[in-house]
Amino acid sequence: MTQQPETEMTDTSRSTGAGGREDETAPSPAAAAAARTAEERPAAALGFNARRVTLERLNAYYGGNHAVADVSLEFPPNEVTAIIGPSGCGKSTLVRCINRMHEEIPGARADGRVLLDELDVYDQAVDVVAVRRAIGMVFQKPNPFPTMSIFDNVAAGSRLAGLRGGNLHDRVERTLRGAGLWDEVKDRLDEPGIGLSGGQQQRLCIARTLAVEPEVILMDEPCSALDPVATLRIEELIAELRRRYTIVIVTHNMQQAGRVADTTAFMLSGELVEHDATDKIFTNPADERTEDYVSGKFG
Ligand code: ADP
Repeated sequence: MTQQPETEMTDTSRSTGAGGREDETAPSPAAAAAARTAEERPAAALGFNARRVTLERLNAYYGGNHAVADVSLEFPPNEVTAIIGPSGCGKSTLVRCINRMHEEIPGARADGRVLLDELDVYDQAVDVVAVRRAIGMVFQKPNPFPTMSIFDNVAAGSRLAGLRGGNLHDRVERTLRGAGLWDEVKDRLDEPGIGLSGGQQQRLCIARTLAVEPEVILMDEPCSALDPVATLRIEELIAELRRRYTIVIVTHNMQQAGRVADTTAFMLSGELVEHDATDKIFTNPADERTEDYVSGKFG
């Protein structure tokens, strides 16, 4: 989706120190990325099922509009990959191709390959519902099921996935803990999900996504509707989730990419310009266009 100006303003306010509390001490994207790299890396062998996603010459179209052009890219398990680039460069389209949501739009089509480990998710024999279960998605605006309680929003995810066995309450508790929300909602599970704050609603949506037991989580600007404190909370959660999942995050906010992403991919006009370690992208990119973008010359 094309970004609204408010999104950019939110991001700018974060980076310039005009808006958020933490801005005064906010490190540069490169410094944040370097600090993150120094952290202990999670073992991919924890027993969780994070999987590698590989794009091979992916193209996506809306009628005659070639929105994603020949992109090859790998998203390793237990890593966070950020996708950055100016509005309209194809970031959302690219992630929507990964779990086959792109094809739901009338007139839209894609070609090339998307692999989940070895599985070609576009293979005719592959069930699209199973693809979307394995590859969950969190959207810009928190969208809890409006008529459902906090409990049922999460339970619905489990039911949707046909997960039985064990106690449903335990399962919901475990999932809400996993989304960093349990302590805030444990005494009000029967209240409507939409009564929560924006940041809590987004964590509820993340819980609903986790309840399906995915292997990959796609996040499309998950913090753009949130204030700086709620944003930071989601970023901490992403750092936790990385231990268990493959994470792809579209973000307009370069500081956010610096804080959360192992690697960053820069897109321009549908093409992948460059993909590298996040601190490299922000300090010493290979391509002049990346340099111009990360230094704020356009975008
Ligand atoms: P980004 O996420 O980087 O802002 P998008 O993937 O939303 O970029 O858009 C890439 C291109 O595809 C743009 O030219 C945009 O106008 C077009 N596009 C996006 N969504 C649709 C849609 N639903 N129908 C037609 N064109 C679309």
